[in-house]
Amino acid sequence: MIGQLRSGCVLRGLPLFVAFLLGAAVAASTAQSSARPSPVEVLTPKPPMLVMIERKRVLVYELHITNFGPSSLTLTGIQVFASGAESSSTKETSAGKLADYSGSSLGELLHPVDESSQMAMSDSSQMASPRESGKLDIGHRVIAFMYITVPPDLRISALRHRFSFDVADPSRSQGTPNDETALDGIVVPILQESPLVLSPPFKDGVWLAGNGPSNTSAHRRSVVAIDGRAYISQRFAIDWVMVGKNGNTFHDSRDRNENFWAFGQPVLAVADGEVTEVIDDIPDNIPGKLPTVTVQNITGNHVIVRIAPDTYVAFAHLKQGSIHVRLHQKIKRGIQIAAVGNSGNTTGAHLHLQVTDRNSALAAEGIPYVLDKFRFLGLGKDFEEDHHPDLPQSRTLPMDDSVVTFP
Ligand SMILES: [Zn+2]
Repeated sequence: MIGQLRSGCVLRGLPLFVAFLLGAAVAASTAQSSARPSPVEVLTPKPPMLVMIERKRVLVYELHITNFGPSSLTLTGIQVFASGAESSSTKETSAGKLADYSGSSLGELLHPVDESSQMAMSDSSQMASPRESGKLDIGHRVIAFMYITVPPDLRISALRHRFSFDVADPSRSQGTPNDETALDGIVVPILQESPLVLSPPFKDGVWLAGNGPSNTSAHRRSVVAIDGRAYISQRFAIDWVMVGKNGNTFHDSRDRNENFWAFGQPVLAVADGEVTEVIDDIPDNIPGKLPTVTVQNITGNHVIVRIAPDTYVAFAHLKQGSIHVRLHQKIKRGIQIAAVGNSGNTTGAHLHLQVTDRNSALAAEGIPYVLDKFRFLGLGKDFEEDHHPDLPQSRTLPMDDSVVTFP
């Protein structure tokens, strides 16, 4: 699986977007340096693009915040503003505030790095609960997981961030680069592209979008460092689990793969493309029993397909021996490529589907996509087989825990 992860290759990936601008825009207009002390460095590994999730326009990205100063800090607030904003209805620019986080709303965004290096490629993975504190010891980093909803008529090219801090020991900070209690002007560009439109990975049936798009799912929070760089390849991943006529994901006992409705279901190509990776010889697990998970077997049997420049779809946990396509084969949207299985880091049959910017299941950044069409049948937590909504959806992603069917 990690044949692509040559160390020289990893460095050719997208560089971190450095949002630590030292007020560059202001400096240009005043013709003198506006450099000022800053308590932290802020980096965004992958700038966001607008994506529809359950009919809302959202921007999903992270802020990696590192304390470079001589005093401990506590991050107490993050405000997010539309930058370069224009309302399509009024054509007036706006400096509107899009979000304002403090207290528990800030705590829900934060994820200290020491709790985040887990590999969540399974529907059984549990994320560490985010701590409700922005404490940043000297040299430490926290990641703010951002999930910003943008009003329908607002056109923006970037986001501006303002951070507030408590400095634990101001006397130690005198005249040093972290004696400020606020940092403004951290700009994250918005990629002016549209997510690719994928066709469904299944022909029919009722499917649950497990660990689906949200700001707290195990996929969303799965930061994995590979060859010296941290990635979130699963930023928009979904664990598709089939729901059967009994309203559950299996029938009879859970100890046989064949009792899971998903097991053996055909998996379809979601776009035209070229097969760039195939693994097909990993035994399926006994349900509920994980193998020793390594970076080599975490995705189990899988297929990766290049569907556009710098755009790859990975289908993971496939059934052993079920893969119909071969390496470098050009395939068409809608053909069967494999069957759903239970191989790799999984405790029950499901399809893990993700889209990334590189030909790797882990050493890549997850990028957004939308599904062409599906029907929303409710949420899994209170789904009733014989009594549910049936809402057509188009060119959107289902939110986490959605139960859907494909027309
Ligand atoms: Zn998964």
